[in-house]
Amino acid sequence: MAVAETPYYEKTDDQKAITEMVRQFVDEQIIPKAEHYDGADEFPAPIVEQMKELGLFGVTIPEEYGGMGLDLTTYAMIVEELSRGWISISGVVNTHFIGSYLLMKFGTDEQKERLLPRMATGEIRAAFSLSEPELGSDVQAIKTSAKKVDDGAYEINGQKMWVTNGLQSGVVFVLVKTDPKADPAYKGMTCFICEKEPGASENTGAHAGLNVPPKIKKMGYKGVESTELVFDGYKCPASMILGGEDAGLGKGFVQMMDALEVGRVNVAARGVGIAQRALELGLKYAQERKTFGKPIAQHQAIQFKLADMATKVEAARLLTLKAARLKDAGERSDLEAGMAKLFASETGKEVVEDSFRIHGGYGYSKEYEIERLYRDAPLLLIGEGTSEIQRMVIGKKLLQRHKI
Ligand SMILES: Cc1cc2nc3c(=O)[nH]c(=O)nc-3n(C[C@H](O)[C@H](O)[C@H](O)COP(=O)(O)OP(=O)(O)OC[C@H]3O[C@@H](n4cnc5c(N)ncnc54)[C@H](O)[C@@H]3O)c2cc1C
Repeated sequence: MAVAETPYYEKTDDQKAITEMVRQFVDEQIIPKAEHYDGADEFPAPIVEQMKELGLFGVTIPEEYGGMGLDLTTYAMIVEELSRGWISISGVVNTHFIGSYLLMKFGTDEQKERLLPRMATGEIRAAFSLSEPELGSDVQAIKTSAKKVDDGAYEINGQKMWVTNGLQSGVVFVLVKTDPKADPAYKGMTCFICEKEPGASENTGAHAGLNVPPKIKKMGYKGVESTELVFDGYKCPASMILGGEDAGLGKGFVQMMDALEVGRVNVAARGVGIAQRALELGLKYAQERKTFGKPIAQHQAIQFKLADMATKVEAARLLTLKAARLKDAGERSDLEAGMAKLFASETGKEVVEDSFRIHGGYGYSKEYEIERLYRDAPLLLIGEGTSEIQRMVIGKKLLQRHKI
């Protein structure tokens, strides 16, 4: 069936089976335990172990490397389910997914064979790192640099910021400057595949020169760590330039921007998931809580709120699936991924806030799940490009497609 004829909402039998399996896992293992891990800001290790057993670290990795070989659409459906439970859990998988994508699309055979089988099982997890203390949106302003040294390796120096899974990952895809004189700057940027010791704050031996300061304390999105990475003379072999030295040197920016496009579909799916959960909580509470002699769900103002929430969730889901399906079909999806990310992340925040309002004073209490969602949702407005950056992407692509 051509993409245009595909009902965006419809799931294949395989997609139904896997999303139902993930939903059951979320209902039984994540939602009841999220409060504990969120409160303690503790890495949910037992949940992550079960995710490895379910194969969730290899969803998009080809079967020949031990993964499930599923498409972006199915991945987005899974991410929605995981995020419905707790967006920190999807955070454990998401940077890993971006790393796998970069390897699958640009990696050399040797790089794929070295890493993908262990990534598919979750034995090692991936992080990706663009941001620095002085920049996030303006990626071309990256200062961390790599210089070729006598033994043919590249020495990396500089500081990275906000690296999700920065401590526990075994491999980080890092964008750095290799030609400071390049004009435009993006042509002098390269992506290095930096291996490290998972869990080590100070790396030694072959990975010496890469240190991980204590995790950043955050408003929400707890449990999964966000850290700085300090590169101080870290040596990366030339063979670990993404795509190899000949093909990959100076191509890092383009590779990362490509990966951010699928990353945006991924964040959009997270927005749908958190909004869906907020809607469910709002629907339930509105039928339980009584004021003026009837359940608040019987007041039209509350019904209207629920109606708007449900409509936005549905629209966000459709935009997300459309972007994913276009990408899977090999069609252009840059504009659509930007729209999905913008709309679904804003929807996440708005629907969570509406549900919070429906909960009245109890929404402010840690006894109620919506309190956690209220702290978690704003992250989605920031990661993989803020809403302002999405609007810039959408505007630029619109003008390209409709040039007169
Ligand atoms: C919890 C968390 C996890 C993260 N994980 C990762 C990760 O794993 N890897 C990684 O590399 N990064 C990660 N990030 C960083 C994230 O990608 C950046 O925070 C984001 O890109 C925004 O960059 P910034 O914070 O530097 O904001 P800035 O770029 O400084 O922007 C500040 C404000 O100005 C606006 N703005 C900027 N430029 C323009 C413009 N041209 N026009 C209009 N408005 C503009 C922005 O929208 C924003 O509102 C993470 C961030 C958080 C909070």
